[in-house]
Amino acid sequence: ARLIEFQSVTKAFDDGTVAVNDLDLTVEAGTITVFVGPSGCGKTTSLRMVNRMVEPTSGRVLVDGRDVRSADPASLRRGIGYVIQHAGLFPHRTVLDNVATVPLLAGWTRRRARSRAAELLEVVGLPEEVGRRYPAQLSGGQQQRVGVARALAADPPVLLMDEPFSAVDPVVREGLQDELLRLQSELDKTVLFVTHDIDEAVRVGERVAVFATGGVLAQYSEPPELLARPANDFVADFVGRDRGYRGLSFVAGAALRPDEVETVTVGAPGVVSGDEWLLALDEDRRPRGWLRPRATVAGPLSEQELEPGGSLHTLGLPLRGALDAALSSPSGRGVVV
Ligand code: ADP
Ligand code: MG
Repeated sequence: ARLIEFQSVTKAFDDGTVAVNDLDLTVEAGTITVFVGPSGCGKTTSLRMVNRMVEPTSGRVLVDGRDVRSADPASLRRGIGYVIQHAGLFPHRTVLDNVATVPLLAGWTRRRARSRAAELLEVVGLPEEVGRRYPAQLSGGQQQRVGVARALAADPPVLLMDEPFSAVDPVVREGLQDELLRLQSELDKTVLFVTHDIDEAVRVGERVAVFATGGVLAQYSEPPELLARPANDFVADFVGRDRGYRGLSFVAGAALRPDEVETVTVGAPGVVSGDEWLLALDEDRRPRGWLRPRATVAGPLSEQELEPGGSLHTLGLPLRGALDAALSSPSGRGVVV
């Protein structure tokens, strides 16, 4: 089912900036859809047109088949949770009260709202005592969890998340991403998630919309497709820019094994099977070692998913030549992970 539809949506601000340019896009119910792209490409503006924080200049946005302009903003927003980068918690209220505010505003009794809030803190993985603290007493990661709990408080079918994890450190961020995926599978929300980080996008997104400068949608695909077949140079560059895991990039190829290296295919397979070997390259593209995924994985691999393989002694000059040629060819960019 289509839950959110952008139909020929354009947003030009008063100063003439075109933030979103003729966007046509459908978000399926019960999925996590990601908007990704460099800063200023219109991600936030697009997101905010869903809950009417921004009105389109032309075109329309439908939620559940209804033009959002047919609902008054307050009732629209009760059905749409909103999470932002710095959780935006009320500093002088306890964590529990921060979360309880939303159901209270929706007319719940204080008692019911607080018990719902306690339940939600548990859902987002926070221990009970955290509810009695104030936001400033929490880590950045904990604050974001509270932000998510608060957005879920009125049990909205739609969740808008604008760079929710961008301000937390990478290790915590991965934990939060995993939590989000778990929550999503349990609660079955429709999530629209904004990030500027392609790794995060392909990790959490079932479908990923890549925006280019000028608010133009450059590609809307599932992650494996996006990594394997960038629609144009902009997407290829954007997807390939952060290639590499901790300074390493990987070359993958069917039947590419340490002991039978004759041909090498370079590219962005997107889906890497557990039978394939990956050759790790350092920033200067020097081969560093063989790794292989522990299972078939779509999208970026984490270190835990990689198992060290054989040595480099089989790496002869012909292979190096093949690698150099492949890596300098246009299809050689966006190498796996
Ligand atoms: P992103 O979230 O992708 O970084 P935004 O949607 O925030 O991008 O902004 C898209 C473009 O619109 C940028 O050029 C930004 O400067 C501009 N913009 C955003 N909000 C306003 C506003 N209220 N008035 C004028 N220009 C704006
Ligand atoms: Mg933004």
